[in-house]
Amino acid sequence: MADDGMILNFDLGMDVVAPKPRAKITGGRWRDRVKAQKSLQASASSSSAKEGRKSRDGDDGNVDAGYERPVKRIRVDQPSAPKAGGRPGGGKPGQPREITSSLFSFNPKAVTNFEEAEVEKEAAEPSNAPLAENSFKGLGLSDRLVAELEKLKLDKPTAIQKTSIPLLVNSTSDAFIQAETGSGKTMAYVLPMLHRVMALSQDSKIHRNSGIFGIILTPTRELAKQVYAVMCQLLRATPWLVASPVIGGESKKSEKARIRKGVNFLVATPGRLTDHLQNTQVLKLSTVRWLVLDEGDRLMELGFEDDIQKLITQLGKAEVAPQTYDGVSLANLPDRRITVLCSATMKMSVQKLGDMSLKDAIHVEAPKEDAVERKAQESTFSAPAQLKMSYIVTPSKLRFVTLISYLKSVFARKGSVMKLIIFISCADSVNFHYEMLRGPPAREKSSENPTSLTVNTVAHAAYITSAANKDIMLHRLHGSLPQPVRTATLRSFSDCKDPTVLITTDISSRGLDIPSVDVVVELDPAFSIEDHIHRIGRTARAGRPGKSVIFLTPGCEEGYVSLMASNSGTPTAQNYDTVLQNGLSIPMELPFETHAKVEEKQSYTEKAENLQLHLEQRLLEDRKRLDLGRNGFKSHIRAYATHTKEERGFFDLTQLHLGHLAKSFCLREAPGGIGNGIERKASKAGRAKKAGRDGPTAGSKRGREDAGEEVVGGQEAFMRMGRMMGKLGASEFNLG
Ligand code: AMP
Repeated sequence: MADDGMILNFDLGMDVVAPKPRAKITGGRWRDRVKAQKSLQASASSSSAKEGRKSRDGDDGNVDAGYERPVKRIRVDQPSAPKAGGRPGGGKPGQPREITSSLFSFNPKAVTNFEEAEVEKEAAEPSNAPLAENSFKGLGLSDRLVAELEKLKLDKPTAIQKTSIPLLVNSTSDAFIQAETGSGKTMAYVLPMLHRVMALSQDSKIHRNSGIFGIILTPTRELAKQVYAVMCQLLRATPWLVASPVIGGESKKSEKARIRKGVNFLVATPGRLTDHLQNTQVLKLSTVRWLVLDEGDRLMELGFEDDIQKLITQLGKAEVAPQTYDGVSLANLPDRRITVLCSATMKMSVQKLGDMSLKDAIHVEAPKEDAVERKAQESTFSAPAQLKMSYIVTPSKLRFVTLISYLKSVFARKGSVMKLIIFISCADSVNFHYEMLRGPPAREKSSENPTSLTVNTVAHAAYITSAANKDIMLHRLHGSLPQPVRTATLRSFSDCKDPTVLITTDISSRGLDIPSVDVVVELDPAFSIEDHIHRIGRTARAGRPGKSVIFLTPGCEEGYVSLMASNSGTPTAQNYDTVLQNGLSIPMELPFETHAKVEEKQSYTEKAENLQLHLEQRLLEDRKRLDLGRNGFKSHIRAYATHTKEERGFFDLTQLHLGHLAKSFCLREAPGGIGNGIERKASKAGRAKKAGRDGPTAGSKRGREDAGEEVVGGQEAFMRMGRMMGKLGASEFNLG
């Protein structure tokens, strides 16, 4: 855990080493004074020799056997002949004197031998594409709905739709829809429900005041808005039927007003719906015939079990009305309430939710003959077959420059990639990466309108542009942003006509359907393999192509490749050196002036080092930016501690090299303070447990991304924390 090799850019503009003041010995006989002086000098010279040895071998005097010897440290200020490619830091004699560490020395080596694919693998046949030989008409949907689908350019059902629609348009049974991400499962439950309510309105006077017929619960506000948008599109044909979102973060008052005005379908997040059930008198449940629990595993993970239980109990108490409030018969609707549970997985939590909510449910799955053969068939869930997955094993020190290089290559050709999502573990780290990758404020579009909701979440990207793609937009999104900002940012990303990058937390990993995301980058691995599948499922949707790449560090994280292989398909290896070479061969214009320069004539390693130095200098020159780096680093570590228990072997906190990791946050040293706060939090959680209090976050990940508490301590405290993590479940460290 030593910070070996972390000799960083100390500003040596002042005295390099201040000479120690000499102790003056006074009193006693002169002979004794001379003797004492001599022994003092001898001990001083032996300790300086020791220090010399220490600094050569590393801070603690030991060289870790797993690391390479450091290459020669470069003194920028020496008036030696300039090397080809210039001096790292670009310093001229007379400029501040700096010592840079090599990004390429002291790095842990990858423990596995992976072969980099020479030729890119052909993508497999899409597993979630619409089925060629089928039509919606043949599934028993009304002409009106089919016409509406055609307007949306949807004429053939996907495999899950082909199975679920004929079953649900007639059945009165509960259903469990198990479908992989991006397979069209929203329409699989929405279409049968709309078909039956629309059929009802053909010969009777059904309108927005006839009552609520369906409630759809989703784990996130974003997903709720998206499902609501799908419903609105389909309800265009029947403007007398109305859907409404009921989600946290929006004005409760206006939601109440809408419910009072009349709503037939509610798309809700559990917390806000529970609130309305308690406080909104006009919200009546007797006409409700469908309860849909979308992304069931996520609903449970986020700790909504109690809210869902309350809703089920309240629905159970409400009689099933045979007619609307104004006397229109509902005889053509199911005579009982139907619950539809949707999930890509069949985890324990989903089974528990099923036990709570379903009665004699039918299991709906895409028929095997419609699904393309794939290796991971035996797993309970999988990623789209056509998705091209890869991984890069990158030492921590090189993580940020490798990310920039990767992005540069991706956006090198015009039109090849339009939308890319970068997943990061926590909100603070999202803020840091956004700040570091954005261009100067003067060039921002949003600065044209300083009152815009996206003024702080959308900017022009810098560093990753190329001659072909001069305008790339950058977006940031996480749970700590106010809801209107979240909504506006997501819309901006979705509607963006320029190539664009979204830097986000797992808030965007589930259900979000952003048209044509081409690439998903997991800069931080997900907290569980299920989250990983959901993240990569943001691309390759409904038969479209897509790519994903995950960044891993050498060592235990490499073991994660086999876990991915058995769940989502085998990813191919990309060598970070090749990524750096390719990315940095594309001309780079640094958008901000610092001493460090990246120049064409430099080798790729010099470019990487100078780019890193430039980023570090930018951090040092601005206190706010520096704080973003420090907070990002600390929250990153806290989030790292919350990988699921089963996967913690791959993400071992005690194996993190703080000094190297600091580099990836452009910090010259690891900020103090890793441990005590976590310990404080842990003991709080422990106390809560003892007191029998299981807070809403117990066992959930909610709030992880909003971590913001200050932590202090040192390497020892950090090690203690690591040991503690082994004893306690990750849930003890939920932060929020
Ligand atoms: P979902 O799994 O419901 O989030 O849907 C994933 C994507 O598939 C969305 O962009 C839908 O618009 C799209 N989609 C759903 N059904 C179809 C279909 N039958 N044909 C083409 N695209 C579809």
